[in-house]
Amino acid sequence: MRGIDLREMTELFAPPETFFDTTWLAEPDQLEALRDARLRAELRRASANPFHARRWARAGFDPASVRTAADLPAAPLYDVAAVRASIEAHPPFGEHQNFLLDGSTGARVYFSDGTTGRTRPTVNVPWDAEMYGVLTGRALWLAGLRPGDLVLNSWTYGTHAAAPFADAGARWVGCVQITASSGAVTPTVKQVELMRDYPVRSVLTFGTHLLNLAEAAAGMGLDPVADFTLRAFPGPSAGLGPKISAAWGVEAYESYGFNEVSYLGIECPARGGLHIQEDAFVVEVVDLETGDPVPDGQLGKVVVTSLWRRGGATVRFDSGDLSRLLPRQRCACGSWLRKMDYFQGRADNMVKLRGTNVWPEAIGKYVAACQDSNGEYHVTAHGQDHREELTVRVESPCDPRRRDEVAAALAGELKTHLGLRINVAVVAVGELDPLTGGGAKKKRFTDERPGCGV
Ligand SMILES: [Zn+2]
Repeated sequence: MRGIDLREMTELFAPPETFFDTTWLAEPDQLEALRDARLRAELRRASANPFHARRWARAGFDPASVRTAADLPAAPLYDVAAVRASIEAHPPFGEHQNFLLDGSTGARVYFSDGTTGRTRPTVNVPWDAEMYGVLTGRALWLAGLRPGDLVLNSWTYGTHAAAPFADAGARWVGCVQITASSGAVTPTVKQVELMRDYPVRSVLTFGTHLLNLAEAAAGMGLDPVADFTLRAFPGPSAGLGPKISAAWGVEAYESYGFNEVSYLGIECPARGGLHIQEDAFVVEVVDLETGDPVPDGQLGKVVVTSLWRRGGATVRFDSGDLSRLLPRQRCACGSWLRKMDYFQGRADNMVKLRGTNVWPEAIGKYVAACQDSNGEYHVTAHGQDHREELTVRVESPCDPRRRDEVAAALAGELKTHLGLRINVAVVAVGELDPLTGGGAKKKRFTDERPGCGV
């Protein structure tokens, strides 16, 4: 196997231990100069990739015309449909990745979880696989993990990247790791026993599993707050942070990323959004319809350019995820790294309900905050001809006799915050699994309106 130059990597991209003394605290002009130099280099490199070269030629875009990130919107966007088309035309991995088959050794292929359509493969050459570790490791460090800390990796080892990302991230921090996988591999009770018998500082997994673990611990007669040595949970996402913190008595942090990019946005203890790892990414937010960049603070689709890949190249990938960029200012944590808002939903899940745009994930945020719910929900759009309705089904462990009361309270919250009347139905815990698919990445939305098959 051809080796990778780790010294070069750590000089370019500070590993967790040095990142927070250097890039994290750099002044805006330093950050922007670094980002822009990397962007120019990345565009030169990506020009050799036939997938991008062809798209750019077709759009009349000259990569040499880009001097700073402000010039980047001249490059055309591409989305998952373009990636899928490339994979179909140039199997098995698509033209943007096929050249890796000549000469790159030791690559790994991970598949997306597939929130929409068929899952798609991402090939990671050894450099890229290590970089996932560096970028993820920073998220773990920011949450308070340190060399020698014991962590339980409870992401499922499967075809997707979450478990190996967490694995590499823990290694780059210098943690001691127990690889458990999810409850289907190592029973939840056994995982709680591991957490009790060893000084585990964190469990790396998805939010609902952390809640399941707390429930299992209580069922075993243990006190999740007093009987464990936990320090924090980095990046459990899905807005469940407050529930997780309440269950375990330690901080839980949000993050943003996806299969092709790793953690690009990470939350610091000052909260108020996610710091973008600007030495490794350029993040833009664009209008849903025109694709033009929107002003800071305005909701739009997240567009990502990666500055660190050596295998494929990601230049202006339209993620279809909704968020907003926040103006650059010094955070209470001391960092000038720009922040983006938390994940606000999927653009393709948008429902226009009585003239107002609404996303199922926005509803999910209020479900997560509801004391009587376990945070599980599923939204259905139905009706026709200007009599469209949204119904959210919510799981709750409450006494069935209280369900109407819980539903009415949540409907009131949704009306207050979203300005819309949304039907709420409270159901038993586990009842939504057939609709959401269970697992880490759940289907939250079904469109039953005529002509809208999601
Ligand atoms: Zn901060």
